[in-house]
Amino acid sequence: MSAVAFIGLGTMGQGMAANLVAGGHDVTVWNRSAVAAEALPSERVVVAASIAEAVAGAEFVMYALADDAAVNDVVLGAQGIAASVDVTSIVIDLSTISPAASAAEAAAFSARGVRFLDAPVFGSKGEAANGGLWIVVGGDEATFESSKVVLEPISATLHYMGPSGNGAKMKLVGNLVVAAQLEALGESLSLAKKAGLNLHDVLGVFAVTDFRSPIFDGVGAAVAANDYSPSFALKLMLKDGNLVKDFAESLGVAVPGTIATVGTIERAVDAGYGEENASALIKVLASDAGVDLAE
Ligand code: NAP
Repeated sequence: MSAVAFIGLGTMGQGMAANLVAGGHDVTVWNRSAVAAEALPSERVVVAASIAEAVAGAEFVMYALADDAAVNDVVLGAQGIAASVDVTSIVIDLSTISPAASAAEAAAFSARGVRFLDAPVFGSKGEAANGGLWIVVGGDEATFESSKVVLEPISATLHYMGPSGNGAKMKLVGNLVVAAQLEALGESLSLAKKAGLNLHDVLGVFAVTDFRSPIFDGVGAAVAANDYSPSFALKLMLKDGNLVKDFAESLGVAVPGTIATVGTIERAVDAGYGEENASALIKVLASDAGVDLAE
């Protein structure tokens, strides 16, 4: 078993770190807000006082941070991971960030001869808690193979996507689909309700027809139950929507559907739903239609 430093104990990091502990690894954690570590089994986790202390002697350094700004602070800052990590460590970024920020990290680690993988995750709070994430990985393939010992305890499937940065790119490609599904679910349920259909009947059809999706199943049931408690905060969905937009723009690819969805998300954040689940964008579509989706 390995010595692992885990940094960033938010919604996703808590579950990942707990599964690394359950997998028998020796885990040292650091989080900006010290209180977050209290949710982990204290007898089996070391809580470090600084980033440098957390990464000292670690075979693997893993982190799940909010966004590019957090990575800039925690990874690229003067006292950050890139400056502190042992040269023999393997560093694995599980955050959803821009391809540019991922490239900046890769360059910083490469300059010190440290092996680095970009490994963002699909799945949400539940999959993080039960070790069932779907992880997309970019970087050197031998480093990926060596990292399976810490990636397998937190994942259902691992997908090697190719060179450094390809994990970050795949994550944005996938989140384009997630955003489109949430927008489609909100528009379709609002239309169905306005047309007088029963939402449970509608979701029953979505569950068996050839466009079925776990997102329609899970989020659909939660919307009908008026449950918008956060697994994936809407404010993070706004970050991701903008990352997809900027990524597509940088490649000259038109994404009109994503642009429309980002507009919906912005209105939902403006309405005060930023800390609720990403599905709260549906509230704006329902309100536009003049319907209440709670059954
Ligand atoms: P979260 O609950 O908001 O946690 C974010 C983490 O980043 C916290 O540990 C936070 O520390 C830390 N952080 C933020 N800004 C920081 C800064 N400037 N300096 C130091 N630490 C900072 O987010 P999450 O839901 O766990 O998501 C983590 C990453 O996974 C994000 O990139 C997200 O897009 C991605 N992701 C999330 C989901 C999901 O369903 N939630 C699914 C797939 C991917 P504090 O505790 O001190 O605030």
